[in-house]
Amino acid sequence: MSKNSCDIAIIGAGPAGLAAGLYAARGLVDTVIFERQATGGQIVTTSWVENYPAFPGGVSGSDLGELMTRQAQEYGARIELFVTVTSLTRGSDGAFTLQTDSGDSWQARAVILACGAVPRKLDIDGEAQYTGRGVSWCATCDANFFRDKRVAVIGGGNTALEEALYLTKFASTVYVVHRREEFRAAAIVVKRAAENPQVEFVLSSIPLAIVGDDSKVTGLRVRSLADEREQTLAVDGVFEFVGVEPVNELLAGLADATDAQGYITADACGSIPGVPGLFAAGDLTCSSLKQVISAAGSGATAAATALKYLES
Ligand code: NAP
Repeated sequence: MSKNSCDIAIIGAGPAGLAAGLYAARGLVDTVIFERQATGGQIVTTSWVENYPAFPGGVSGSDLGELMTRQAQEYGARIELFVTVTSLTRGSDGAFTLQTDSGDSWQARAVILACGAVPRKLDIDGEAQYTGRGVSWCATCDANFFRDKRVAVIGGGNTALEEALYLTKFASTVYVVHRREEFRAAAIVVKRAAENPQVEFVLSSIPLAIVGDDSKVTGLRVRSLADEREQTLAVDGVFEFVGVEPVNELLAGLADATDAQGYITADACGSIPGVPGLFAAGDLTCSSLKQVISAAGSGATAAATALKYLES
């Protein structure tokens, strides 16, 4: 095969893409994984993963991503790092063409979309102005800037509470601002946060604005939904963990196969109905469980289906 062609192209090197790469490469087909950032996906920005089997006591997200990357490469998957696939088309012969931001063109016989999801933004006042100056979407990247300071975490899901707990290793106080009284996060994580004296819950409250002194964040303005009272929490950092949005752009023009939230409606084998040779796996699909284990499982399933497709 020429340099710019492969049997299976996998777009995204998170747990789904890396597991797909491992299974595809072990099927002895030419496998290339395209990744626009570092490998590992969202787990690289996750401080600690406690629910991936084979790691009693847990494993750091970055170590897990590194191990998955090495294992896929060990069996021959190639990784095109810091390369963004900008368009994906399917020719009348069934082959796919991928264009990249470096101007390269690749041909692939099958494609697995494993582009994952990106953190959602709140789009409130001060967010854009103070991004990188106190507003963050990554505790593992930025916690160190907030030693002995006060920070606010916005959200009530697993990411918000797990990262809030991680932030207590650095910050003196971590406010968890959540719009309801009940959390979406797993019960064990909620219990740990509730028992941590450095965590203060600010419940039934919505964030209104991130305020600052023009150079850095100085507070988070919130409104209580219980009594409409407004207050400004004096904080140096604001971490937004209010969910994620699927990266589904490459599907446009190939299939109309997304649900109302934009998640790809692949079937149980990872196939995207109506587009032979195109598969999807991981957090950009409408799977009910958004976890590393299910992302890896769906990547393996999609690769196994893609291998069968190539054989046929
Ligand atoms: P998530 O579960 O969707 O939670 C998002 C949180 O943000 C919710 O509590 C939501 O409030 C709140 N929120 C959303 N929009 C908001 C807004 N405009 N203003 C204020 N609050 C807002 O997202 P996530 O925590 O990022 O997790 C994504 C997926 O990954 C989930 O399926 C999660 O279980 C999974 N995950 C798993 C682990 C793990 O197993 N260790 C770790 C991290 C993530 P409401 O609750 O009121 O909707």
